[in-house]
Amino acid sequence: MNIKNYINGNFHNPIKNNWIDNYNPSNGEVYGQIPNSSKDDVENAYKAAKSAFPSWSETTLEKRSRILIKISELLEANLQRFAEAESKDNGKPVSLAKAVDIPRAASNFRFFGNAITQFASESHESVGQNAINYTLRQPIGVVGCISPWNLPLYLFTWKIAPAIAAGNCVVAKPSEITPMTAYLLGEICNEAGLPKGVLNIVHGLGTTTGQAIIKHPDIKAISFTGGTATGAHIAKVAAPMFKKLSLELGGKNPNIIFADCDYDDMLNTTVRSSFANQGQICLCGSRIFIEASIYDKFKKDFVEKVKVLKVGHPSESDTNIGALVSKPHLEKVKAYIEIAKLENGTVLCGGNEVSIEGYENGYYLEPTVIEVPNDECRVNQEEIFGPVVTIMPFNTEDEVLEMANKVKYGLSATLWTNNLKRTMRMSNELQAGIVWVNTWMMRDLRTPFGGVKASGVGREGGFEALRFFTEPKNVCIKY
Ligand code: NAD
Repeated sequence: MNIKNYINGNFHNPIKNNWIDNYNPSNGEVYGQIPNSSKDDVENAYKAAKSAFPSWSETTLEKRSRILIKISELLEANLQRFAEAESKDNGKPVSLAKAVDIPRAASNFRFFGNAITQFASESHESVGQNAINYTLRQPIGVVGCISPWNLPLYLFTWKIAPAIAAGNCVVAKPSEITPMTAYLLGEICNEAGLPKGVLNIVHGLGTTTGQAIIKHPDIKAISFTGGTATGAHIAKVAAPMFKKLSLELGGKNPNIIFADCDYDDMLNTTVRSSFANQGQICLCGSRIFIEASIYDKFKKDFVEKVKVLKVGHPSESDTNIGALVSKPHLEKVKAYIEIAKLENGTVLCGGNEVSIEGYENGYYLEPTVIEVPNDECRVNQEEIFGPVVTIMPFNTEDEVLEMANKVKYGLSATLWTNNLKRTMRMSNELQAGIVWVNTWMMRDLRTPFGGVKASGVGREGGFEALRFFTEPKNVCIKY
């Protein structure tokens, strides 16, 4: 099946007729082609967005809200179809796409459809100076949204929904590795009555299509989620053009477990925070630190639970771990397992590719737990982004805090303890944009989402996102 660009409400082949193969990770086969869109395609998308902007930015909040909520409802009505498409493109279990990815994409539209009706600007009375200031929050114009492959529709819509809710028009590019649900979204937007040109979706490689978006002189803001190296490149290109930038990048998140935690809850959640979506979630807790007094027990119980996770075809209902997203990614993750061994790590379980009957060329890997001798090793410092976690013991709060913070990343951290004072101390000190205590990946869409250090700049979520996608303009009136 061939995917097309969605420009001005219509579906188009790429102008230069360049195409890229689209792979099904569950069997390694090419199952379609996607445009490798050129600068000219991006220009057409930009022009469509530009001409839609005057009318869309003047559309009442109530009408924008109604359209966004309609998109949300249509996604829900097409849950099964979208979940199957997401799974086929990405390798994740259909059950996961059905429970998490697609419902969350629908929630993104519903949430921002509602949020825009509550988004207020501020006023400041300049007391004693006979003046009042009010601050307009005007849409930026045409904005660019670029997203990764791990949670394809979920993260794509996390950007698009606030951008259009705030009155912008969008040129968006999903990952070339997982373009399918973004393609299907175009139909839904038409059906929901989104005016032509408000959302334009161009497909292609980062180096061609993505590059054309970030270099476009009149695309005034870029919201990007992806790898840290790509984020640094985007910043280099976009900063001298004074574009607004939101960068959500990589992570190497600590999962810190104290002996006083609720053990069973911690154990079950830690299996999930390690291996959900094949470990390919930027929030996965890939470095697990366990208080020494419960280390041996944890090691035994955790490995026991991980060993029984079923690696299987994504469409089987009892599959826990589906396929990794691509062959190069599988090779990268396997290479890290070898690096761990060279650095004196002990593979406690997993470590091998899995061959599934009938799908021998799929990209399957066992969930892997590695005991590491110290925190300096590469597998504890570099983002692997696969079903691989490390475990090691710690003795004191200061020691674990130092290790938790001693990486270049700072996206999220998880803390398991019932000690209130420790919770407060550590939450203050952890270098992360998000700290979860006694839970993981519990999301409230109103909260700021993003990281510090090499995990990015800016925050998404709630009014933070609506602020990003608007320009404040202060008006001062003397009376
Ligand atoms: P990636 O950086 O390779 O690609 C992300 C997107 O950027 C893709 O659409 C790609 O085509 C595009 N791109 C690549 N080069 C570009 C360029 N020169 N100009 C413009 N666009 C370009 O990342 P990925 O491999 O798709 O995703 C995995 C990474 O994403 C991991 O590092 C993960 O931690 C990160 N991630 C972060 C978050 C977060 O919220 N912080 C969420 C999910 C994933």
